[in-house]
Amino acid sequence: MFNDLSGNCSCGRVKLEIDAVSANIVNCHCGRCRKLSGSAFSTYLVVAERNFRISAGKEFLSSYNPSEQSARSFCMHCGSPILVQNLRYPNLRMIPLGVLPLPGEIVPKINIYCESKLPWVAFNCETTDYARAIGR
Ligand SMILES: [Zn+2]
Ligand SMILES: [Zn+2]
Repeated sequence: MFNDLSGNCSCGRVKLEIDAVSANIVNCHCGRCRKLSGSAFSTYLVVAERNFRISAGKEFLSSYNPSEQSARSFCMHCGSPILVQNLRYPNLRMIPLGVLPLPGEIVPKINIYCESKLPWVAFNCETTDYARAIGR
């Protein structure tokens, strides 16, 4: 559980809001997230669609479908990732952690796609780890 959050892309044109809800915070270590983020892994807040809004700058959002199952939206001006959707879970939104100002007590609880986790990545918080998607 956390307070209402508002975040924005690097250039500030796209703003988003998340209602105070409980959310899963998930690290994804899949090769696709690595490629698309340019980082060793990606961390997302996973929230219900109804608890998430783009509050400004919709016209600056562009999207890309890396597969038939997923859609990624980003600011076309600065390139910040804003939103990831897995079309298998149409009611969920995955918000990249870096676009949100987060209190330090919010820590990831879940690692997914650990089968492709880089060997030097380690966490000093308690997580549940899955080889692939949650439950697998
Ligand atoms: Zn931007
Ligand atoms: Zn991934």
